[in-house]
Amino acid sequence: MKAPVWAPKVSAAEPRDLCTDCGISRSSEPKRCGQACQFIKPDYAALETQVHGRARDENKPDELFFGPHQQMLRAALTHPREGAQWTGITTRIAERLLETGAVDAVLAMAPDPSDKWRPMPVLVTRAADMAQCRGMRMGYAPLLALLEPAREAGYKRLAVIGIPCQVYALRALEKELGFEQLYVIGTPCSDNTTTENFHKFLSLLSEDPATITYLEFRADYHVELRFTDGRKKEIPFLQLPLSTLPNDFFPLTCRTCVDYTNVLADITVGYMGGQGEQWLLVRNNRGAELLNLLGDEIRTSAPGSKGKRFGPVSGYLKNVKLAAGGLPLRRMPDWARVVVGWLMPRIGPRGLEFARARVEMKAVETIVHLRREQPRRMKSMIPKHVWELVKPYGLTAEKDETL
Ligand SMILES: Cc1cc2nc3c(=O)[nH]c(=O)nc-3n(C[C@H](O)[C@H](O)[C@H](O)COP(=O)(O)OP(=O)(O)OC[C@H]3O[C@@H](n4cnc5c(N)ncnc54)[C@H](O)[C@@H]3O)c2cc1C
Ligand code: SF4
Ligand code: SF4
Repeated sequence: MKAPVWAPKVSAAEPRDLCTDCGISRSSEPKRCGQACQFIKPDYAALETQVHGRARDENKPDELFFGPHQQMLRAALTHPREGAQWTGITTRIAERLLETGAVDAVLAMAPDPSDKWRPMPVLVTRAADMAQCRGMRMGYAPLLALLEPAREAGYKRLAVIGIPCQVYALRALEKELGFEQLYVIGTPCSDNTTTENFHKFLSLLSEDPATITYLEFRADYHVELRFTDGRKKEIPFLQLPLSTLPNDFFPLTCRTCVDYTNVLADITVGYMGGQGEQWLLVRNNRGAELLNLLGDEIRTSAPGSKGKRFGPVSGYLKNVKLAAGGLPLRRMPDWARVVVGWLMPRIGPRGLEFARARVEMKAVETIVHLRREQPRRMKSMIPKHVWELVKPYGLTAEKDETL
């Protein structure tokens, strides 16, 4: 019998150009990257139909931003869990799947024993051991390389917790993987980078970065840090030392990722549209089943939406164009940073409007960076709905940029 938390050794990664090492290149058939990769020729409409029974509904405007969903909710566990990134809904759903015997194992990320910020894929078979996976780690780790060991260990009913680029590859190969049951709990993801880069970022935020235990880019325009001695620190986005980071700090993959909200998960558990709470997108019946597993352990309400995103997104586009063109960003004087930093949480987009703004920002970033760095990839990598998202900001496809 395998240990209840199992991190099998995996093969080395095959060299790939745009790649977040989701694990497929380390599998017995690395050539499947061609069919599975989000960065080669994604077909979201087809996979949305395969997974949810339909693609995005044009009559539901928010589906253009967030993908197919039956329900969107603000949510929190009534008893937030120790060590969770927010209240721990993601990991609790997986615990419930194990407690109820609905799955044989859960595939998720635990912290690497040698570095708490480095994600390490694990297979978990005992509900009590899911607690080790709580919390967000920055970096890439080959989650899907554990699909074959899971199958070989005889696990037929599996749950996977993953970020969008991992979930895309999982769905693209789902049919041939042959699991009897597959539950997918997704989190949104944006601005990921290597764990090494993340350590450099932490060292800019604190004189003693090793004492940082928690970091989150909150929807109220602040980064929250927590320390080993229990201290908390909140830094307004505008006062982050971002302009001192090198241009390639965020790899091109994450600057051109077209799936912020994990549209192919059964349920997405994030915070972006939650106005200080968590944000759930129940995408299909299986997602509804996952939410029901929490019973009265979860409190939910309708998400709010305030402010107007057009101004902030237009300003963002201008800055991305300058930065992508190699021009130094004009630094805002310190007094203005304080004023704007105070104003943004009060008058800037909030709730669902904040989430729409972030999805549009990712879309403009994708187009500006690909146009500059890999223009030949644009026509296969950018789905039609992304062009729809950027249209209001004057960005349209040029010759040879669409299929
Ligand atoms: C790199 C990154 C960027 C993110 N950016 C956003 C964002 O912009 N907006 C937003 O709404 N949400 C984002 N999230 C998700 C968010 O941080 C929370 O994970 C989510 O809100 C769930 O909170 P929770 O308390 O329910 O999670 P918990 O119960 O604490 O569980 C978190 C789960 O995340 C998984 N995990 C942790 N690190 C990684 C990793 N590096 N790769 C893959 N899986 C991992 C673990 O398996 C764990 O089970 C991001 C997550 C990651 C990993
Ligand atoms: S991200 Fe995954 S599917 Fe894409 S090239 Fe890398 S290993 Fe292959
Ligand atoms: S931003 Fe996109 S490409 Fe980068 S790690 Fe997250 S899901 Fe993957």
